[in-house]
Amino acid sequence: MFKVSYKSAYPVGPRSCYDESKRAGEAFVKAYELQHDIRNKIVRIFNTSGPRIRSGPEFGRVIPNFIHQALIDEDLTVFGDGSQTRSFTYVVDEIEGFLKIVHKQKALGQVINLGNDKEFTILELANIILELTNSHSKIVYKHLPIDDPVRRCPDLKKAKEILNWQPTTTLREGLKKTIAWFKNNEQ
Ligand code: UDP
Repeated sequence: MFKVSYKSAYPVGPRSCYDESKRAGEAFVKAYELQHDIRNKIVRIFNTSGPRIRSGPEFGRVIPNFIHQALIDEDLTVFGDGSQTRSFTYVVDEIEGFLKIVHKQKALGQVINLGNDKEFTILELANIILELTNSHSKIVYKHLPIDDPVRRCPDLKKAKEILNWQPTTTLREGLKKTIAWFKNNEQ
């Protein structure tokens, strides 16, 4: 049996409508530019979290899942062996980046990544959340979803050069604020 490895989106995998629609959206923006002779700015965002993030099984994002599980002393469900990485942006940093893009003339016609370039494994994230919540939960390992990206880390060169922007909130600081919000709003 062949194992096909795709560096970019797998065009007919279970995530493909999500992956490809993001790219299609960018192509539509560029087509609109040409058609109407205006210039746009394209922002690529990455894993974002903070207070008021949607939680629950229908959303399934890792940070709200782990915080919810930790606060009720339920097992934290790490998918795969937890060695896959993500880089998490605190929502306030991201909004500040967006505002800079909106006001920056030099960003016209550009595609700019807004994210965080500090990478964490999902297992590291689980352990940090256990520590910050003083939880008695354990970690359990579940099947890795098909086509789950092994690594995600944005290149922030353009955001730094064009916007003079980079994220300033550490993962721990952002998680503390998110956990405090969950305690007041979910319990
Ligand atoms: N994940 C996990 N446990 C969960 C939810 C997600 O281990 O309860 C993993 C998921 O497999 C992925 C990572 O955490 O590797 C980030 O998942 P999320 O759905 O938050 O974002 P995305 O996969 O779109 O980056």
